Amino acid sequence: MAAVPDHTEQSAALFARASAVTPGGVNSPVRAFRAVGGVPRFMTQGDGSHITDVDGNRYLDLVCSWGPMLLGHAHPEVIAAVQAAVARGTSYGTPTEPEVLLGEEIVARTPVDKVRLVSSGTEATMSALRLARGFTGRAKIVKFAGCYHGHVDALLAQAGSGVITLGIPGTPGVTEATTADTIVLPYNDQAAVTAAFAEYGDQIAAVITEASPGNMGVVPPLDNFNAFLAKTCTDNGALFISDEVMTGFRITRSGYYGVDGVVPDLMTFGKVMGGGFPAAAFGGRADVMAHLAPEGSVYQAGTLSGNPIATTAGLTTLRLATDEVYAKLDQTALTIQSLVSTALDKEGVPHVIQAAGNLFSVFFVESTDGPAEIRDFAGANAQVLPRFGAFFHAMLDGGVYLPPSAFEAWFVSSAIDDDGLAEIESALAPAAAAAAAV
Ligand code: PMP
Repeated sequence: MAAVPDHTEQSAALFARASAVTPGGVNSPVRAFRAVGGVPRFMTQGDGSHITDVDGNRYLDLVCSWGPMLLGHAHPEVIAAVQAAVARGTSYGTPTEPEVLLGEEIVARTPVDKVRLVSSGTEATMSALRLARGFTGRAKIVKFAGCYHGHVDALLAQAGSGVITLGIPGTPGVTEATTADTIVLPYNDQAAVTAAFAEYGDQIAAVITEASPGNMGVVPPLDNFNAFLAKTCTDNGALFISDEVMTGFRITRSGYYGVDGVVPDLMTFGKVMGGGFPAAAFGGRADVMAHLAPEGSVYQAGTLSGNPIATTAGLTTLRLATDEVYAKLDQTALTIQSLVSTALDKEGVPHVIQAAGNLFSVFFVESTDGPAEIRDFAGANAQVLPRFGAFFHAMLDGGVYLPPSAFEAWFVSSAIDDDGLAEIESALAPAAAAAAAV
């Protein structure tokens, strides 16, 4: 069983020191627990399905580094491969064999013809957009409210007041000029897409979407939405970009592509393909990718792109991610969903669980009389957020580490065994009661 976390002194002390040298004490905002309150836990170790913090508290991990740790933490074969690679040197700024092997693995698993490696999902989507604009000679892009594609300026755009409006900056520091070419539409809304193309069709370079959104909670595409987007793009001379940074190599061997089979013009990947190191990629049609430097004229580069350590970690992870691993991930995710539902039902807590393969999230809704399905960002925003906060902290106290935000997917690893499921089950009863008490 996981130790019940009861000390946070060391985490609190580190957080105070971190806050003195880093804004908000963290290097990526969601880690600060702002949405749920309390002391962010500073982790010091991971082993299999668990992570341990500096106070010695051990948690069953349902964040998995926000996706990468598909096989769990410190997998012996990944660690051995990385150690061997590190012993030979860490970076040369030249081509290396592991990046070729990782490129071949990605091409074999997905519908992309060619792939370019980068170091973060943000870089992947930013570069895919530039390539789409360079290839089409057009400026505008379409994105969906509630989809996150990293902190790319043009994609940090919020929807205006109408359904088809040009985006307004989603954060200070992004200029109106930057988002003027971004059209933000409601997710799963085919009519809005059709209307946007009717108005701006010959100016739209690309539509970018999460293959199955996980950044507003899990909100899967409905009514063949991706196929509709792909066709609309093709009909209008635009490119369809499917962002599989979160879903790629996680939901299936390929990603959400393995579920709906829609072939995009360009795809973006990250997380699992780096095995816990900074590696990401974008790829797609050979004729489009041929526009990339040095073959073509669209510039894109990176000092550490295809880094030998990151590519070794990613390649080893992907090679270990067999069909049996994906079958286990699916089963584990289904079991956890059913445990959560049972516990919440027992306490009469209204909720909706949505899943895309093994990726799922729990929405605490006002009542079960409302819509049974969250289709878009407006629906995701109708959650009872304080209820999630109470649930989150009770789970943490029970030794289960959930994403510290109601707008995130839960990530499972293949290292979760029956004991781990039992730990989740025993944490759930008090957590459901805590949610009911809000
Ligand atoms: N796209 C999607 C769908 C993501 O979920 C994320 C990260 N959560 C990104 C892009 C950005 O990736 P990174 O954090 O590596 O920049």
